[in-house]
Amino acid sequence: MIYKRSSALFAEAQRYIPGGVNSPVRAFKAVGGNPIFVKEAKGAYLYDEDGNKLIDYIASWGPLILGHAYEPVINAVIEKAKKGTSFGMPTEIETQLAELAVSMVPNIDKIRFVNSGTEACMSAVRLARGFTGRDKIIKFAGCYHGHSDSFLIQAGSGAVTFGSPNSPGVTQGTAKDTLLAQYNNLESVKALTAANKGGIAAVIIEPIAGNMGCIIPDERFIKGLRELCTQEGILLIFDEVMTGFRLAKGGAQEVLGIDADIVTFGKVIGGGLPVGAFAARDEIMGHLAPDGPVYQAGTLSGNPLAMSAGLAMLTELNNRPEIFSSLADKTKYLGEGLAQVLKDNNIPFQMNRFGSMISVHFTDEAVVDFETSAKGNNNTFKKYFHGMLKEGVYLPPSAFESYFLNDALSYQDLDDTIAALSNIAKDLKA
Ligand code: PMP
Repeated sequence: MIYKRSSALFAEAQRYIPGGVNSPVRAFKAVGGNPIFVKEAKGAYLYDEDGNKLIDYIASWGPLILGHAYEPVINAVIEKAKKGTSFGMPTEIETQLAELAVSMVPNIDKIRFVNSGTEACMSAVRLARGFTGRDKIIKFAGCYHGHSDSFLIQAGSGAVTFGSPNSPGVTQGTAKDTLLAQYNNLESVKALTAANKGGIAAVIIEPIAGNMGCIIPDERFIKGLRELCTQEGILLIFDEVMTGFRLAKGGAQEVLGIDADIVTFGKVIGGGLPVGAFAARDEIMGHLAPDGPVYQAGTLSGNPLAMSAGLAMLTELNNRPEIFSSLADKTKYLGEGLAQVLKDNNIPFQMNRFGSMISVHFTDEAVVDFETSAKGNNNTFKKYFHGMLKEGVYLPPSAFESYFLNDALSYQDLDDTIAALSNIAKDLKA
């Protein structure tokens, strides 16, 4: 593969944009080398600026569950754009998307649209604080909830990839209100609630984690967490920015059979345009301005282009729910195929998979939390990432990320991906 034009574009970008990128993980710092610049994409494939064709396992980090440039979504955006791109006034399509989302997701009465997953999680925490009258929150090491100050405490995803899970610029005052627990460890949460009795507004969790690779919650842990929150009057926030409208119509709440108090969304809900959302029962949402005192706003929130993409996307998923099981089947096929190749080549690994989320960790030990995820061999990961890229397979450029499969991927694509790993497997040992 040739990356001449991508490299030149990256050099140029670095002159004007910090690190040459507008979101850190894109820079390939964890794996080395220069990022690929995308020219266009269709279905399951990316076409880069050097004319390479790549099978895409990122799908814009999750949103493009139906594949790139999906016609009904694109057409909806084009038609909407002709009628104006933003009004800062109410439009009917906001209610249409809200009604559909509320009908698909269990246990929510109302939803508020924002512009990113970060905003959704930040606003959910403010709402939880306003509702409970308490200040502190509990998050889990290795979970990522966007880049607002309260969450950059042992954060996953790019924050940990770049070795700054606790970012400079977050004040001590803010940091002291975020308490840290261990994923899959209920005792660690109980210790914090006992030590801060009556002081904790919310526990926020990725119900299936995707930002330290894919990590599955133990049943006892997630059920126990729900019970503990109920007992202590703490709101349980499910950050479904990755899992929402990806694992099932009703997201992780549906597949795990657990009701959260507040749910946050991003990615799929915007159909590839910048949308996030947070939702809850009436009793909680009633505290939000203009009905209640908890302030939250946005000039471009509910933007007509973003709403039209989201509505086209959710309508399709609502009408064709078999997409979720079909994606899970494809993910299982891929996971088993890749695992077989690694086994045949005696390469130690863990393959974590849930629905259409999957990740490979090069370690002997089960990966169940941030600590075990961090034990993965990053040298092997780098060789794996670059080897697969040379074979035409685009994976997330960090071990602390999940892959996201999309409906446009064919079994031939999956076979080609497994064959790609066979071709490079011997190099992973060197
Ligand atoms: N929560 C989770 C679980 C995420 O994975 C992300 C982004 N990857 C966010 C929140 C933040 O979303 P955004 O990047 O849209 O701000």
